[in-house]
Amino acid sequence: MNRRNFTKHSAVAASAAFVPGSGTGQAVSKPGKSDSCRVKPGGARVIVAGGGIAGLSTAYELMKRGHDVTVLEASRRAGGHVRTMHKPLDDGLYADIGAEQCTKPGYEIYRAYAKEFGLELLPYPRRTTQITYIKDKPYTEEMLRDRKILQGFGYNKREAAYMSEHGMNSLPGLYYAPYLDMFEDEYQPLGIGLDELDHIAVKDLLKREKASEKAVQIYGSAFTSALQALWQSAILKHRKVPVMPTQLFRIKGGNQRMTDAFAKRLGQRVRLGAPITKIEHGESGVNIHFKESGQAKSTSADYLVNAIPLTTLLRVTVEPRWSAEKAWVIQNTMFDFQSRVVFQARTPFWKRDGHSPNMACRSHHLHLVWEMAEEVEGDRSILIGAASAGTTAEQALAAYRRRYPGTSVDIERTLVHHWIQDPWAPFCERRGFGLGRLKKFWPEILRPHGRIHFAGAYADNLTWGQEAATRSAHRVAEEIDESS
Ligand SMILES: Cc1cc2nc3c(=O)[nH]c(=O)nc-3n(C[C@H](O)[C@H](O)[C@H](O)COP(=O)(O)OP(=O)(O)OC[C@H]3O[C@@H](n4cnc5c(N)ncnc54)[C@H](O)[C@@H]3O)c2cc1C
Repeated sequence: MNRRNFTKHSAVAASAAFVPGSGTGQAVSKPGKSDSCRVKPGGARVIVAGGGIAGLSTAYELMKRGHDVTVLEASRRAGGHVRTMHKPLDDGLYADIGAEQCTKPGYEIYRAYAKEFGLELLPYPRRTTQITYIKDKPYTEEMLRDRKILQGFGYNKREAAYMSEHGMNSLPGLYYAPYLDMFEDEYQPLGIGLDELDHIAVKDLLKREKASEKAVQIYGSAFTSALQALWQSAILKHRKVPVMPTQLFRIKGGNQRMTDAFAKRLGQRVRLGAPITKIEHGESGVNIHFKESGQAKSTSADYLVNAIPLTTLLRVTVEPRWSAEKAWVIQNTMFDFQSRVVFQARTPFWKRDGHSPNMACRSHHLHLVWEMAEEVEGDRSILIGAASAGTTAEQALAAYRRRYPGTSVDIERTLVHHWIQDPWAPFCERRGFGLGRLKKFWPEILRPHGRIHFAGAYADNLTWGQEAATRSAHRVAEEIDESS
């Protein structure tokens, strides 16, 4: 089929499959203000696979640029890993069970959307008042800036001085600093004279730089490539973002208000309960098969944007098959998954005890815990945390009780959300690419494959979820706008 025929076929198939209101797939809400966006003459028809923040923001950007866009989202809700729990919490309390925060500096695109949509960003001071457990002993942030204490852990003088100024988790920066200005373009880590470091582990780089044994033990991963670690630090330096930012923010009322705002503006362009099952692609367009209300459907378009994490994309049949390079990337990209713990407390008991609610517990059943929704009136309060997959509510609560230094724990409800059990969004942030593999991944992971473009938290240089998702959305919207 040549380009003209394919596009003609696309238009017919599209109108057949998308008679407004004919499908039983729920639209998210009535079209919002921006629904007045008209498709411009010659605007492309684009299907976006996946209605997480990446898919929604890509669709929003394409809609604003005058393209005819449809988001096919498998689950019955939009937002993917951006999700705010309200029920069964009491008294108007809420908890972000997915993405919890953005930073400033950093997240410029995300924060601009918050402004555009009138969403208030609240400071989230969870790291500045954190109690950190090290070998079962609690340390305040102040203690972890104390050179004597740091040297007592085994760090050398120079390291202790650096950590005292920049914070404990920034220590690798001391050894990375001489390399960072070599990365002139934050999207180009290769060919700048450092390629051999992709075959060297961070551990060996730190040894080579004469880091203390303690620094090598704590920060020296044997599996992370030194080049990739340097690159991530260089990106942060380029964006003027600290390695462990403390200026954190969240959206008042829950971060899902952001994805809800996109979905509202996209209106009936978002089709829920519409899992994509097969992608056929050619030189001039794509033909997408999906299910809706149990019925097999298909539609055609000029472009497909894949905003489904790659591990989940593996379940979708693709014809013709991916190129060998793209198939390798899709098969080998590794993702993390997380479990979120939510504690509802009858009272903010930590205030009575004079303790911080924010703890790095560092136990298997509770890694971190901190307060959220503190602006909601009333005594009842929320603590949320992160735990290893499989942790039960009882285990998380027991871990909390073990770590909490006071006496009056007053938790009346514990809930655990296991993302790994989500049928459509089990995997979350992309892991590092592994030793010596950067050339195979980069930039292939971003490269369009014919008429298929790639957006998502996995499809940017820095793997900070919503930041990467919204940045990749802008990139893809530009790519399609320019080539259509
Ligand atoms: C507990 C937790 C804490 C986090 N904390 C932060 C944080 O503080 N800051 C931050 O920036 N990020 C954070 N993240 C990461 C962030 O939430 C994600 O990286 C980001 O939301 C991913 O967005 P996405 O659109 O790329 O992918 P997803 O959100 O995974 O969206 C993909 C969508 O595709 C859909 N889908 C899957 N298969 C199909 C199919 N066949 N057909 C159609 N649709 C399909 C899924 O249902 C899903 O809605 C956190 C994540 C978790 C889980």
